[in-house]
Amino acid sequence: MDIPKQYNPKEVEGRILDSWMKKGLLHSDPSRGGKPYCIAIPPPNVTGILHMGHALNNTIQDILIRWKRMSGFNTLWVYGTDHAGIATQNAVEKNLAKKGVSRKDLGREKFIRKVWEWREKHGNTIKEQLQKLGCSCDWERERFTMDEGLSKAVQEVFLRLYGKGYIYRGNYIVNWCPRCQTALSEEEVSRTEQEGKLYYIKYPIKDSEDFVIVATTRPETMLGDVAVALNPKDKRLKQLGEKVVVLPVLGRELKVIADEFVDPQFGTGIVKVTPAHDPNDFLMGQRHSLPPVNVMNEDGVMNENAGPYEGLDRFLCRTKLLEDLDEQELLEKVERHTYALGRCYRCDTIVEPRLSLQWFVRMKPLAEPALKTVLEGKIKFHPKRWTKVYVNWMENIRDWCISRQIWWGHRLPIWYCRDCQEAIASLERPESCPKCSGTDMRQDEDVLDTWFSSWLWPLSTLGWPSDSDDLRFYYPTDALVTAQEIIFFWVAKMIMAGLEFVGDIPFRDVYIHGTVRDDSGTKMSKSLGNIIDPLEVIEEFGADALRFSIIAITAQGQDVFLSKEKFEIGRNFANKIWNASRFVLLNLEGCSRNAEFDTDSLSSDDIYILSKLNDTIGEVAAALRKFRFNDAASAIYDFFWHHYCDRYIEYAKARLFGESQEQKSRTQNVLYFVLSNSLKLLHPFMPFITEAIWELLPRDDELPLMISPWPKRLKLPFDKGVAENVVKKYELIRAGRNLRTEYNIPAGKKVRFTIKPSGEKENHFLIQERDNIAEMLRASEVAVEMERPSAKSAPSAITALGAIHLSLKAEIDVEAEALRWRKQHQKVNGELDRVKRKLENRDFLEKAPPEVVQKEKDRLSALTARAEKIRKNLSFLE
Ligand SMILES: [Zn+2]
Ligand SMILES: [Zn+2]
Repeated sequence: MDIPKQYNPKEVEGRILDSWMKKGLLHSDPSRGGKPYCIAIPPPNVTGILHMGHALNNTIQDILIRWKRMSGFNTLWVYGTDHAGIATQNAVEKNLAKKGVSRKDLGREKFIRKVWEWREKHGNTIKEQLQKLGCSCDWERERFTMDEGLSKAVQEVFLRLYGKGYIYRGNYIVNWCPRCQTALSEEEVSRTEQEGKLYYIKYPIKDSEDFVIVATTRPETMLGDVAVALNPKDKRLKQLGEKVVVLPVLGRELKVIADEFVDPQFGTGIVKVTPAHDPNDFLMGQRHSLPPVNVMNEDGVMNENAGPYEGLDRFLCRTKLLEDLDEQELLEKVERHTYALGRCYRCDTIVEPRLSLQWFVRMKPLAEPALKTVLEGKIKFHPKRWTKVYVNWMENIRDWCISRQIWWGHRLPIWYCRDCQEAIASLERPESCPKCSGTDMRQDEDVLDTWFSSWLWPLSTLGWPSDSDDLRFYYPTDALVTAQEIIFFWVAKMIMAGLEFVGDIPFRDVYIHGTVRDDSGTKMSKSLGNIIDPLEVIEEFGADALRFSIIAITAQGQDVFLSKEKFEIGRNFANKIWNASRFVLLNLEGCSRNAEFDTDSLSSDDIYILSKLNDTIGEVAAALRKFRFNDAASAIYDFFWHHYCDRYIEYAKARLFGESQEQKSRTQNVLYFVLSNSLKLLHPFMPFITEAIWELLPRDDELPLMISPWPKRLKLPFDKGVAENVVKKYELIRAGRNLRTEYNIPAGKKVRFTIKPSGEKENHFLIQERDNIAEMLRASEVAVEMERPSAKSAPSAITALGAIHLSLKAEIDVEAEALRWRKQHQKVNGELDRVKRKLENRDFLEKAPPEVVQKEKDRLSALTARAEKIRKNLSFLE
């Protein structure tokens, strides 16, 4: 057999991926029957590029899918991409801007054609990258949120909700991005606490020398003030209630109103009321019938209502206005003030609350069943703590603004009669207006929020609203794996959609993973320059190494701290797997591959490794069932590396090359059995290398590893005690090796050990294992002596099986060794004196910081122990 000595992931991964594709192993078919297991991928943006967050997210999904596939489920991992309205439009606009063209220059139709062209060019990038990562999605079912079927689902849903009265149009304050010039939902705004300023401004009272003082963080909006307000309990109200206040600069006369909403503790307790520019003021304006005054255009530039500031950008206006107020001595003071500043999640521009006419979905009736279903435990969050976050959000849900003032997306199926302005919901242009019979219709210019298509993802990708085989077989899906940022954007809305449109949950388990950070804990981002490119990692370390490392180092739901070095964990492990497998494969000639083990003929080490394998099979499955991926990874890592490679293969060598044919074939069998089962357990984590070794493994069937059955626990009447004794044997061997090292005994030199067993049973076991222990310790002889007097004459170590003694005198140059120890003794004693003196020094004790004193004390006890040890060793030699 010709197996390369070095593992080469680049060669292997590409070849294995091709073979899976060619054999059609990734395609799912409901007609094959069986138990379904389905995951719908969180659709990456169509023009996205794989980042570490994707790598983590998709590795987890692939582990689940591969594990379930091997466990006999009819699995489907649905792949597709999201049209990502604002993000994609921004990307195309940026590209056009390089040529000096704006989207308005092109016009709607031509611009949309450009976006489709962009998608043609860049839309496959992320798919190919996910394939490189080893993701076993059904690539033949690729969907796109703007494809025909999914668009149909979007329209169907809009019309259904409209028909139920759940969709309405209204003037509301929305989050507005002046750069993207569109409304944003609350979830599309990232809010961070920021240090800002609070400006105290004097508003003169009409026909008086007095002022009221109001505080604001956004002074430019005062130009849209329509009143000032106090809390009804405020004693100043009596005096001010009848007065009229004059808005500085513009001279508009403002009423003084009383409203419960006013917080007497904020600023001066008197607030300005600006209905067009603040959501709370908007409601206050409605309560007091105060018509809003809008002072800003869509792009954040002040309009004609801003008087002398017309044409100025909002922040320029702020500066200019503050100068003017200061000049007129109307700026009382400026205080530091911390508040949550919202930014557009796509372009980072500061969001402006803006009054505009938008379309909304009433969320209360959708949220109620979605809340109930989670409280009843029909959908489970992992880790559990997210349930609380979900419940809290659902109990305080607000209506969903679904209209966006962009071009790229699903256009609203809403038409307006030009004659009477009636709005009509319809897929096609209505023939005539139901109200006035007019025939002049125009379609709404807006498109739907991107999430209005992605909230249907588990349904629409399986064919809904058609009653498809896929939908009947694979829905509800099983697990959803996602990041915490989109619980509300997406997870909660999918639950609502599933319950509302098909009366069933979209998935049973939601696994929320952490955020990918650099090793200093900072979130990875392009602008900070601290990203690690997963494709570079695949190039340098291999996809298996990336997958294994990122899973192994991350506890359930915790953030991931990455540096390039972390991927060495996976690479080293892949090399270990390759080298060990290569050794086994090259020594299997004549192996009967009989998995029917006769327990009586097995050696203690055979029983030990088989029973460890049994434990590991149980641990891996238990951890995967609980979504504890790192526990599963470390169980198999520990088993394969420390038990199989470090111990069993070492033990096996002497049997493979020894005299006894019976021993040889028994050992081959165990080696084979454990390797083949280990490859299965490893496959979901490291699919490429395991499949490549599987191809080389002699087998009776032709099944690729990917669809081979998942290992079951063996039902052998193992004596647990034997395996435990073997673990203790290795502990004893380690103690013996430490003694060799401590006395500088060259590796090639045979020495003599004596063991005094700790009891009768141990005596029996040690006698049985004596030869193997001698072999592992490179000993000329290992004597097991129950009656050995507890000698003080030789260096020894106590272990669970008994005390192991190294016979020294005959083996080494006693004189030279003693000299070496005496020198060390001197050195340590010198150190010890210095530390002692330091600790007796009052000055030091009083002046040094406590942690420095503690450090010296620790040193003292370490040195004392070391000196004692050396003294003991010397006594053996002298
Ligand atoms: Zn923006
Ligand atoms: Zn009409």
